Amino acid sequence: MSLRRFFINPTDITGETAQLTGPEAHHLRAVLRLTPGDPITFFDGTGARYQARIEQILKDRVTATIIGHTRDLPPKVRLHLGQALLKGQKMDLILQKATELGVDAIWPFYSEHGIHKPQREAQMERWQRIVREACKQCDRAKPPEIHDTREITDLMAHPPPCEIRLIFWEHEARQTLDEVLAGQEKDCRAVFFLLGPEGGFSETEVACAQQEGFAPVSLGPRILRAETATLAATAILQFTLGNLNPVHPEDQEKTPCAPLSKG
Ligand code: SAH
Repeated sequence: MSLRRFFINPTDITGETAQLTGPEAHHLRAVLRLTPGDPITFFDGTGARYQARIEQILKDRVTATIIGHTRDLPPKVRLHLGQALLKGQKMDLILQKATELGVDAIWPFYSEHGIHKPQREAQMERWQRIVREACKQCDRAKPPEIHDTREITDLMAHPPPCEIRLIFWEHEARQTLDEVLAGQEKDCRAVFFLLGPEGGFSETEVACAQQEGFAPVSLGPRILRAETATLAATAILQFTLGNLNPVHPEDQEKTPCAPLSKG
């Protein structure tokens, strides 16, 4: 039922009444042609998921009654993806799939052999749209944070808080991911992992990463395309860290349907 999930501004929910406006309301009315009485789901972008029922459909707004709400359980281990900027639409693909796979935050970076286009505001808006659409498709209540693009050296020197740092490197001939994670997983709350551009990481970048405490790890003897490597690394990490286990609906964090704002 991906088509029945909508993002709503938290301030547009008052008590048990939600007012959907703008493109999401247009989509509900003109594209999906839903009608009063239909069940829908709202995400408020902060992690809350509301089950609701459509009451009234007007030209510029839809009103709905909130029936209940839940929040996604936090992952056992947070995953921060450091991604070199890629050409064309490959970044779009990565953002979409990383959202589906449950990455918590995405940190794009410029690197020696990658592209250096300065970031435009329109690009960030596009990326935000992509992750929100992916959330609707995969029933994820909170989109991953997308950070501004930084230089790789800056990112390596000031990484997000994490216990394990990895750099996926096709020339790593010794260390396996298993070996690096062995024993460290237990107390680990967050992992930060770097994936390079089409041109790969330079030797200097890998050396610098090692100095900053990043362990180089391999994805096997074949050189994967940049986007394949990112998706494989993400899925493997999520599985290994226990973030792909099923969650029974009863275990979802249930909170009483309390109004967010009075009015
Ligand atoms: N230009 C390089 C390949 C870069 S592949 C060459 O042709 O030699 C793009 C990125 O994917 C790399 O920077 C790395 O982060 C990741 N990658 C690809 N294959 C990998 C492998 N076998 N092991 C670890 N990382 C890999």
